[in-house]
Amino acid sequence: APYRMADVHELLDSTLVMLSGKIGQRIKVVKEYDRTLPEIPAYPAELNQVWTNLIDNAVSAINSAGGDGTLTVRTELDHDRLLVEFRDTGPGVPEEIRGRIFDPFFTTKPVGEGTGLGLDISWRIVVNKHHGHLQVESVPGDTRFQVLLPLTATDD
Ligand code: ADP
Ligand code: MG
Repeated sequence: APYRMADVHELLDSTLVMLSGKIGQRIKVVKEYDRTLPEIPAYPAELNQVWTNLIDNAVSAINSAGGDGTLTVRTELDHDRLLVEFRDTGPGVPEEIRGRIFDPFFTTKPVGEGTGLGLDISWRIVVNKHHGHLQVESVPGDTRFQVLLPLTATDD
């Protein structure tokens, strides 16, 4: 897939449309986009895979706690990087597993429901392919997965 300049908001919107059936009616989606942000160099299909994985996890988290909740997708300029944050009102990531959730095959979901690969793949796309960062902040009721992407191209 090509490395090209891309508008993250277009990518986010297309992923949200693709996942609207899975998100369903009980989860409110709030977009807090900073539309003044520049396009960034990206592998668009891979970033869509990251958004898909993070939204899928947020939806599962909200559904595990009754099914009503809010998913907030926010963008912001963070120093010299573009922040894309996925925030859910689910039960949170318990502190004792926070160091392992990015490991391949780590899952707390029942067999057949989770592969434990979503965050591993997302990590590789964000960190290795885009030279960005992927981090989580979580307390019960407020979990934020944050993707930080460079604004300018890195040469590889
Ligand atoms: P899978 O979704 O197949 O379990 P992932 O790599 O996507 O694999 O996620 C690994 C684990 O991280 C999940 O099983 C869950 O325990 C935890 N996790 C990921 N996202 C969230 C979230 N938004 N809220 C709570 N826990 C989460
Ligand atoms: Mg997942």
